[in-house]
Amino acid sequence: MSVPRYWRNMPKRERLETQKCEKCGHVDFPPRGRCLKCGSESFVPYTLPDRGKLMSFTIVRSAPKGFEKMTPYVLGIVELSDGTTITVQITDVDPSEVTIGMPLEAVFRKICEDGDSGIIEYAIKFRPAL
Ligand SMILES: [Zn+2]
Repeated sequence: MSVPRYWRNMPKRERLETQKCEKCGHVDFPPRGRCLKCGSESFVPYTLPDRGKLMSFTIVRSAPKGFEKMTPYVLGIVELSDGTTITVQITDVDPSEVTIGMPLEAVFRKICEDGDSGIIEYAIKFRPAL
């Protein structure tokens, strides 16, 4: 059975997979080698929900080298529906229309494409949920 092309090319849902501390239950995203809260190094796999709301944000006007073309962009702190908070770029919205508390959903955006190897990298961003 062949897998439909559109499906194969779809960015992986697994990008929202991270880890949960086995000791204290703290969730880090992206995953780290040790728990930020208790220092434990034992984790269980954990998939973050793809919905949340905006807790706070800043509009980035001067970006690090290599990201100048992206400015201005919105960097938000998003509280996901499970209570985890992550820092992530908010996309598909005019910075002037971003408001605290707005509902958001995860999207996967191509961040770079290696022409030679054909490797495409995706990053998670959040956009206003309809
Ligand atoms: Zn912990």
